[in-house]
Amino acid sequence: MAEWESVIGLEIHVQLKTRTKMFCGCEAGFGGEPNTRTCPVCLAFPGALPVPNATAVEWTIKLGHALNCRIAEHAVFHRKNYFYPDNPKGYQISQYDEPLCLDGSFVVPAEDGDSVVGIVRAHLEEDAAKTVHVGGATGRIVGAAHSNVDFNRGGTPLVEIVTRPDIRSAEQAKRFLQLLRQTIVELGISDAEMEKGTLRADANVSVRQVGETGYRTRSELKNMNSFNHIARGIDAELRRQIETWESGREVVQETLDYEVKSDTVTPRRRKEEADDYRYFPEPDLVPLAPQRDLVERLHGELPELPGARIRRFEEQYGLSYYDAEVLNGSAALAALYEQVALDGVDAKAVSNVLMNEFSATGVDPATVNGAELGKVIAARATIPREAFMRALAESGDPEFRSETYLGETLVGDRSELEPLVDRILAGNPGQVEAYRGGKEGLLGFFVGQVMKETGGKADPRIVNELLRDKLSA
Ligand SMILES: [Zn+2]
Repeated sequence: MAEWESVIGLEIHVQLKTRTKMFCGCEAGFGGEPNTRTCPVCLAFPGALPVPNATAVEWTIKLGHALNCRIAEHAVFHRKNYFYPDNPKGYQISQYDEPLCLDGSFVVPAEDGDSVVGIVRAHLEEDAAKTVHVGGATGRIVGAAHSNVDFNRGGTPLVEIVTRPDIRSAEQAKRFLQLLRQTIVELGISDAEMEKGTLRADANVSVRQVGETGYRTRSELKNMNSFNHIARGIDAELRRQIETWESGREVVQETLDYEVKSDTVTPRRRKEEADDYRYFPEPDLVPLAPQRDLVERLHGELPELPGARIRRFEEQYGLSYYDAEVLNGSAALAALYEQVALDGVDAKAVSNVLMNEFSATGVDPATVNGAELGKVIAARATIPREAFMRALAESGDPEFRSETYLGETLVGDRSELEPLVDRILAGNPGQVEAYRGGKEGLLGFFVGQVMKETGGKADPRIVNELLRDKLSA
């Protein structure tokens, strides 16, 4: 049986969170009463003229830098012509053969090394309005009684990122998107939330036999609204294509929707040829010619990006890849980690506490006083477990001080614990007999009883010693 290789490229749309829209002064942003954030420009009244949003241009350049792109000295807005009710002008202002950012690469670290995904381009365009299909079971146009259009979203700045077909598995595609999302969020240019549609991704999927050069026919996979659905959708499509080729049929170029329930893909519309949008330069806008000192300044403003930070955490703190990745799941958690670990607290211990007990509390790491939390983590072996857990849960409080918890000491005095241990052993003769008969796992049961009686304040080391002594007597 031939061995198949996956060939996956992604197209990602990111809605920028600028205060105003791409070509007019209307407020941008999610939600709001439908059709209240509109004006003659974004509703396409005759004679209304677009003016580009400078912030959107700067943020796109910043993103281009983060993607290692070349920033064009000359970029052109084009009209992409198509008719649809969400598009009142009859065209979308986009970029075509002269995009703002091009020829980049994005490094995705993984346990077994880096993978590099080529970036063809990142360009700036305006979003379409939102259509809401009412009355159908699926929320799609098929079966709907009628459709409403909300123009609030129409004209919001959108960056489209196109990757090269460098991705080789569904899992890799998911990881790429997660890291790209985090990078975008940390640049502060978008909330990039798939549930809200401020991050959307389509996948171009094909397969070829290992060793084959060139590409076979690809399909375009749409309508996936979470990272997991994207991975599952790609997997479903890869399976379908391999099956098609192996049964002697041919894969045809088409657009597909992924259906979560049935875990299958269904055709949306067949493309005999690529859509012809009759692109032509937007006559109402002059080309973009970003000044070189601006381009350089924006490069200088880039923060350390999450992918690089994962590798630095591994090296600087001696963490495993897994730990470094989890801690870098948000910039705030990573910053809290560094604050505590740089304070001289054992790097691995801090990592364990933050990834497990701390994360379980749901406290926002951005609100935590790291120096105070560090003192509690450093003293975790000498304070009662219960006080330690309470400290973590309360660490986001502005009044949080380590002394509150460090004052609570463990009961480690043998003479104080001994009568209690005796009482517990006397109260459980059956378990004592079973332990002595070889069921040594029951030690944990006795330790648990002591902890329960002391409210978790007994020093577990001393309790264990006492129990072993008495049970072996
Ligand atoms: Zn407007």
